[in-house]
Amino acid sequence: MSTDDRPSYETQHHPLSWLALRADQRRAAGLRRTLVPRAADSALIDLAGNDYLGLTRHPEVVAATIEAVRRWGTGSTGSRLVTGTTELHAELEAELAAHAGTEAALVFSSGYLANLGVITALAGRGDLIVSDSLNHASLIDAARLSRARIAITPHSDVDAVAAALAGRAEERALVVVESLFSVDGDTAPLRELHEACRAHGAVLVVDEAHGFGVAGPEGRGAVFEAGLAGEPDVVVAATLSKALASQGGAVLGSAELIAHLVDAARSMIFDTGLAPAAAGAALAALRVIRRDPGLPETVRKRSWEIYELALELGLQVTAPSGAVTSIIMGAPEAAVAARDFCLERGLHVGCFRPPSVPDGKSRLRVTARADLSDFEAEQIRSVLSDLAAIPTQV
Ligand code: PMP
Repeated sequence: MSTDDRPSYETQHHPLSWLALRADQRRAAGLRRTLVPRAADSALIDLAGNDYLGLTRHPEVVAATIEAVRRWGTGSTGSRLVTGTTELHAELEAELAAHAGTEAALVFSSGYLANLGVITALAGRGDLIVSDSLNHASLIDAARLSRARIAITPHSDVDAVAAALAGRAEERALVVVESLFSVDGDTAPLRELHEACRAHGAVLVVDEAHGFGVAGPEGRGAVFEAGLAGEPDVVVAATLSKALASQGGAVLGSAELIAHLVDAARSMIFDTGLAPAAAGAALAALRVIRRDPGLPETVRKRSWEIYELALELGLQVTAPSGAVTSIIMGAPEAAVAARDFCLERGLHVGCFRPPSVPDGKSRLRVTARADLSDFEAEQIRSVLSDLAAIPTQV
């Protein structure tokens, strides 16, 4: 057999040949994912991204980002503990803490890493983590990485949380929730959860990825709105990538907590610090929000308009607490078809399928923006009306 006649290594059984089979299974189930390039000058109305306040192209945010690169260079050059902390990081941390009503803050290079860092620094083997069944993947991964025992409680079920805490053998416990849940857009019962934590000596960790900059007065977050900002047993995690128009994450809490994270949060210690450009962008966006506190209210209003419209059209829709509304389509294929239908008519909406959502709950995820114009709102009305009129939906 000549060299050319031999079956190529790709067609033989090799250690990664199972990938092709897995891809076929995903394709057959309508669950293959794709990376969709976004055109810079797209005429699409973006209801899929997380630029809730429309600040990613705000002139002040853009100028601050460019200035940060000029002054500090393109990369942060090292860990936060070595060369990766600039004065922009320090200012951002001080202003984030001031806005959220906490003593201190620590910036990470993503929200995902902030969650990994804070949860693994606060819980370990021999501890308990009580985790809401709809928590984001980063919180699930953080809990697993911590090696604590994990009790998953039904979504927003305070009695189940209290029972898990009361029945524990472990001394230390964390209760982990999102403030505004990323998929259905509903708010966690933060006050009741905090009472349960107090009664049973647990810490409440709240991921405000979708709440910070959107919920509460002046976008100070759902924890602030619930009157829990600054409580010593409440820890807030946030992302800089949504309302704050940048990249990165943060943990907010007492000065003692933040000092502990500097000593112990491995996803900060062993990671290169957030790029100065991203810190500069988030700082500028935060200053815009603090100067124009009407922005968070505007996005909530826009989101509510989309919800009411979908309801009026007979679509199955979730009520938004912040920027996110979900239109439930059922089967993954129906959600993909509806997403493509919207796309062809100029609306870019998100499409969530299992495992991001439970089976039978595939959906369009529609995120409002504070900078949507009335003209765009009219286009949204027209496309959703057409979608509701076709038989493939629901
Ligand atoms: N938590 C929640 C609830 C999220 O939705 C996300 C991201 N979508 C993250 C954490 C991760 O944040 P980042 O994108 O900054 O890594």
